[in-house]
Amino acid sequence: MGGVVAVQDGAVIKRVVILGGGTGGTLSANRLRRLFPVDEVEIVVVDQNDDHVYQPGLLFVPFGLAHGDEIIRPRHRQLHKGVEFREVPIERVDLESDRVHFEDGTVIGYDVLVVASGSRLVEDETEGLTGPGWKEKVFTFYDPAGAAALHDALEAFDGGRVVVNVVDLPIKCPVAPLEFCFLADWYFHQRGIRHRVQLTYVTPLDGAFTKPVASRRLAGLLEEKDVALVTEFNTGEVDGAGGRLVSYDEREIGFDLAVVVPLHGGATYVARSPGLGDELGFVAVDKHTLQSVARPNMFAIGDAAGVPTSKAGSVTHFEGEVLVENVRRFLDGQPLDASYDGHANCFVETGFGKALLIDFNYDTEPLPGHFPSSVGLPLLKESRINHLGKLMFQSLYWHSLLPGRDLPGVGSAMPTRGKDTAAVR
Ligand SMILES: Cc1cc2nc3c(=O)[nH]c(=O)nc-3n(C[C@H](O)[C@H](O)[C@H](O)COP(=O)(O)OP(=O)(O)OC[C@H]3O[C@@H](n4cnc5c(N)ncnc54)[C@H](O)[C@@H]3O)c2cc1C
Repeated sequence: MGGVVAVQDGAVIKRVVILGGGTGGTLSANRLRRLFPVDEVEIVVVDQNDDHVYQPGLLFVPFGLAHGDEIIRPRHRQLHKGVEFREVPIERVDLESDRVHFEDGTVIGYDVLVVASGSRLVEDETEGLTGPGWKEKVFTFYDPAGAAALHDALEAFDGGRVVVNVVDLPIKCPVAPLEFCFLADWYFHQRGIRHRVQLTYVTPLDGAFTKPVASRRLAGLLEEKDVALVTEFNTGEVDGAGGRLVSYDEREIGFDLAVVVPLHGGATYVARSPGLGDELGFVAVDKHTLQSVARPNMFAIGDAAGVPTSKAGSVTHFEGEVLVENVRRFLDGQPLDASYDGHANCFVETGFGKALLIDFNYDTEPLPGHFPSSVGLPLLKESRINHLGKLMFQSLYWHSLLPGRDLPGVGSAMPTRGKDTAAVR
């Protein structure tokens, strides 16, 4: 192994290098730090910048319900004492020699590598998206600058056609564009101009969402809120100057303001690292252990991992528990824990102070009922308590999830009690 760093009183210190200091990198580092004494394992987290963004907060910025400053904190301050933070862009990983190369020319070896470098927006892959009209009448709220620019544009908007378009999957938090539609309905009502705004949700899927029961419920909500739904629309071009979305099969949808969720890919260094990722830049791992299929001493977490569940903070959190246990088992030479079940959980803001909650895994689609048992938060049903849950989550994120504390009643495995399985029929 390439990362043995020191011998202290005869004991070899191992090194775990974590690529990315966002949700997954931070919570993994903090959990690992608690698990291992500093004289057994060195933990190094690498990120290209020191701004940790609470990304679910980006949804609220365009509507003036949150400000960029409130959702960004210094990355290094979220890491426990004894975790080394390096602020430098990753250039590539050499899987043969177990080394990471950085853009400043430095190199680090590792015994275990954790890939936690998330997903990135690849706006340039869609013709016209960043051309004329970009950040004037075509926006994304998926990054802080885009969300802030959209806030200004919405304030100046006085009526017309607003389209919300997902170019293709996978994207982070696949419900966020639907939440945007629901909040836009609320926002224009608040401003007294809802009757002058046509809202349209444009998706490549054959329904409002990926899973049938949730898809029907969410399509019903769009209809209730008078948001038109256009399905199976594969956006080939965004014509900002002409105000048109054009699909590959040459359908057109006109707009005065477009909110586009661009294609996503893995971090750029993945493509420069032979054997590390797939064609989209995501890392193939065993979906239950999160161990890389390419190398036993490599794991991936969060958006970077190529597993068949949502790219979401909740997923990253649930994966973290299993991943950390598996790093420990790998270093101890024990068989890995294969218990990650694809658990995902998300509050879906629906406007007017309400939200619904979805909870699912690889095998169970989002179902109605209650979470985490027959008494609890209502699933797939709008309620005020779910809205409060969504708001409270920001504090839990900074103070429990990132520090690597367990959230009471919310474990890695999806709870089955409380779910109405008859709803599938
Ligand atoms: C608008 C929006 C709303 C969302 N809402 C929700 C929600 O309600 N619920 C939910 O569960 N999830 C939500 N998410 C998704 C959630 O935020 C992500 O899934 C989660 O943060 C993924 O964590 P991660 O650690 O995989 O990636 P990130 O937290 O994005 O961290 C990846 C890190 O890798 C670093 N990195 C990348 N490339 C390099 C490089 N070359 N060199 C050095 N560092 C690099 C980046 O700087 C970044 O800090 C939302 C996301 C968005 C955009």
